[in-house]
Amino acid sequence: MEKTTDHRANAKALEIDTRPFIDGARMSMDLSQSFETIHPFDGCVVAQYPTCSADVVKKAVDIANAVFKASGWSDLPVSERTDVIVKWAKLIETNAEELASLDTLEMGMPFQQALQDVKATAQEMISLAHLAKSLKTDAGVTAPGTLCINTRDPLGVVAVITPWNFPLNQSVMKIIPALLMGNAVVAKPSEVASASTLRAADLSKRAGVPDGILNVLTGPGDPTGTALVKSSNIRKISFTGSEKTGSNIQAQSASSGTPKPMLMELGGKSPHIVTESFGSPDGLADAIAAGIFWNSGQVCSAGSHLIVHESCYDPLLDALRDAANNFVPGDPFEKDTAIGPIATRQQFNKIVQYMRVAESEGARPVVGGLHKVDLENTNLLIPPTIYEYVDPTSDLALEELFGPILIVSKYKTKEEALSLAHQSGYGLTATVWSKDMFEGLDLSRRLQSATVTLHATMEPLREFSPTLGFEPYGRSGFGSDFGMAQFEQFSRLKLITVNSG
Ligand code: NAD
Repeated sequence: MEKTTDHRANAKALEIDTRPFIDGARMSMDLSQSFETIHPFDGCVVAQYPTCSADVVKKAVDIANAVFKASGWSDLPVSERTDVIVKWAKLIETNAEELASLDTLEMGMPFQQALQDVKATAQEMISLAHLAKSLKTDAGVTAPGTLCINTRDPLGVVAVITPWNFPLNQSVMKIIPALLMGNAVVAKPSEVASASTLRAADLSKRAGVPDGILNVLTGPGDPTGTALVKSSNIRKISFTGSEKTGSNIQAQSASSGTPKPMLMELGGKSPHIVTESFGSPDGLADAIAAGIFWNSGQVCSAGSHLIVHESCYDPLLDALRDAANNFVPGDPFEKDTAIGPIATRQQFNKIVQYMRVAESEGARPVVGGLHKVDLENTNLLIPPTIYEYVDPTSDLALEELFGPILIVSKYKTKEEALSLAHQSGYGLTATVWSKDMFEGLDLSRRLQSATVTLHATMEPLREFSPTLGFEPYGRSGFGSDFGMAQFEQFSRLKLITVNSG
């Protein structure tokens, strides 16, 4: 294919291999049971995928289990598995344009953002891979002649089930901690956007991941995901997705006869608290707008609830009106598009319904709103929307919309701010804007959230650290993500006691 700077033409010219990746190769399947992916901006079909049946799922899990036992992958020194993952990351970086094009085609993230996301994923992979080398084991002499050693064994076959909002990043970043700990993986990316994960699997083979150690299935939650969750040879489920699906998966696993341990990384309704000490300096509104409107708000950590001290409420809201208007929705392949379409018609309808109910209950759009959504158009664009006067008991206040919708609340006291921040019961990410370090740290400590970002300045945050972990609260799930703690999730702790008399 001749490459041009016309990213849409380059993307449309890609030949997408939709076959599942099993035992190190693409497995040919007939398309009698199949599903399509759709480019959300123009409604055109991107690709047709075979649906992996329960039999195909069983085949993939059995192969992964056999290879896990025989391939020697789990016996390699961690440094050798690290080398393979670093090689894989470099191949992902080299193929970033193709991978980003696939994500933009299937779920509509603006191409420039998708490209940035793929490159950042490669860097995160490298950081995490090197971190695995410093996983420590404990040892102690409990009595003369008695040496106790803690080691970590791999678990076996891990199921990795991921969502569509950052298709490549979510799949790969959930696959690699399991691989680094010596496990085999059967992954099922979202049926909305599977192409980049499949392509990444091809690259993993080139990097040296043994055949059968990583397998990628194609299919929707039912039957493919369900069969994977119920499989008796799965030793752990790493699930990233919605609260509702997470609950279903727990129930399915429990009723399968072989309940499995799980990691659940679910949704969020993330608060931004702006304190009196921070005021409303230049640039704050832009930072808050970027935090919610990036990827059309389809981000688990999107800052979707702004909680502002009454002293700075009016000036900040004025500035936000302008900041939001900079996010002009449009064609995700256009260079300057800041906000693309919603990924699917189903998700679009869900957001519109939330808006409809909220407005009928008195929520007032400060910017955007239902009247600005072109319901007749097929391009699935929703303009940035900010609501005030939101009923705190409404769905708009309590549920994750997963769209470019921000709600704003005013507070007087710190207790009130915390109560608003906790009202949804989610606890994934939170942000505090405070120039008073004691106040900021106190809020950070008391916020029931897996991560808290405390900004004492308007300088942009330079780097997020994938080498430090976190664990969600409440409706956002359980189990550690990122950091050393994540490796512990994918290994089993063993105690060896040596009695030398
Ligand atoms: P979803 O729950 O609808 O689907 C997620 C995955 O689960 C998909 O691969 C889907 O096919 C699969 N699935 C659905 N039903 C299943 C079943 N019964 N058994 C097995 N698998 C099944 O989520 P989505 O709409 O793809 O993604 C959006 C959600 O993901 C949001 O709630 C978002 O907050 C969340 N998310 C969380 C994080 C995090 O790190 N906490 C990161 C990204 C996205």
